[in-house]
Amino acid sequence: MATQQLVAEINAWDVAQRQFDLAAERLQLPAGLRKVLREPKRALIVHFPVKMDDGEVEVFTGYRVQHNLSRGPAKGGIRYHQNVDLDEVKALAMWMTWKCAVVGVPFGGGKGGVVVDPSKLSLRELEGLTRRFATELSILIGPERDIPAPDVNTNAQTMAWIMDTYSMNVGYTVPAVVTGKPIPLGGSEGRTEATAQGVVYTIQDAARHLGMDLRKCRVAVQGFGNVGGISARLMAKEGATVIAVSDVRGAIYRPEGLDIEAVSAHSRATGSVVGFPGSRDISNAELLELDTDILIPAAMENQITAANAGRIQARLIAEGANGPTTPEADEILYANGKFLIPDILCNAGGVTVSYFEWVQNLDRDLWSIGHVNDKLHEIMTRAFASTLEASLREQVNMRTAAYLLAVQRVADATSVRGLYP
Ligand code: NAD
Repeated sequence: MATQQLVAEINAWDVAQRQFDLAAERLQLPAGLRKVLREPKRALIVHFPVKMDDGEVEVFTGYRVQHNLSRGPAKGGIRYHQNVDLDEVKALAMWMTWKCAVVGVPFGGGKGGVVVDPSKLSLRELEGLTRRFATELSILIGPERDIPAPDVNTNAQTMAWIMDTYSMNVGYTVPAVVTGKPIPLGGSEGRTEATAQGVVYTIQDAARHLGMDLRKCRVAVQGFGNVGGISARLMAKEGATVIAVSDVRGAIYRPEGLDIEAVSAHSRATGSVVGFPGSRDISNAELLELDTDILIPAAMENQITAANAGRIQARLIAEGANGPTTPEADEILYANGKFLIPDILCNAGGVTVSYFEWVQNLDRDLWSIGHVNDKLHEIMTRAFASTLEASLREQVNMRTAAYLLAVQRVADATSVRGLYP
């Protein structure tokens, strides 16, 4: 309970700005440039009505934030969650700016969200909400302007509704307005798995650096959605032993290893991983502190804090989620000799294949899964290598190293464009 209260008090935007400040200070960025990069370029707040199944009208609040557009159009997911607020969306948008710069894809950072618990809505209500939200966002989004993608509680179906709504409004089909679409609508092969695939590529690189053999490693994964569920499956495919997984309802633990395909089937059938036969139910907090070699937080922000960082046992932490670790926790983990692959590098596979999808849409082209994964591998490995090199050269942790590379690239792009007017 104490930890939960503490987590609720941590403000993601405050965390994002402090992470930026650390890098800006080290890079000795000019004061004016710091002021520009420290704030989002624009933030849209909308309140919009949706007719519910019982005939009543409900008003929802949504956000779209564009942080920095110096390197290209805004790119970032749309989240449906009851705890979404402007500060969270601002943080997620800023992280997208750095993430795109770390892997070198030509986008700026954006993010959106609606304050809603989608599990309480029918499919028809969810479609109505999505289509109206897409219409509200139409003053910002577009294939050359701002390109949304899936995030927590949104998926390929959500993207199909946004793409259709935008296309109906302009009068012709515009696949490139969103990424993460279903494949028949111009979605890319490999996009569903891309974030998790990227997480695993960076884990492979980190394991090689640390001299860890993945076939001898135990893995714990928090979150069993697009990122966590697929990361667990891919890690098992690599020969690792996945000893614990979790979702919002709780965690399951089996020291001898879980059959991830069977856990997925159980989760589809019952709505949760909890209660999987042969496993022990534990809490999400306990999962983080398990005796394991690799920990993949792949759910929400602020999970590893000053309150629990000292008890993390994993040697390697791979941030599938955005913002799971606070700056105080970063220091504790680094002091304890933990190797952390930061979110803006670790989960950048999603935006990288989103970029591939956007390129395919604009070129009216279709790439094979082999081509997508080869290019993803090449980009992730290159980004990991340059981050590791900066970390060793500057004697800083991997997060600060990734920030040094990313913030410098965005700062260069922003200053070479100059101030308008
Ligand atoms: P998702 O909706 O597919 O899955 C989220 C999972 O987390 C679910 O299993 C849910 O039950 C669980 N969860 C939610 N709240 C929790 C809590 N408080 N404790 C434990 N588990 C909880 O979402 P996703 O797309 O997998 O996103 C997960 C994280 O990865 C987010 O931080 C997101 O921003 C980040 N991310 C996603 C992508 C992507 O391509 N989808 C890309 C980069 C980063």
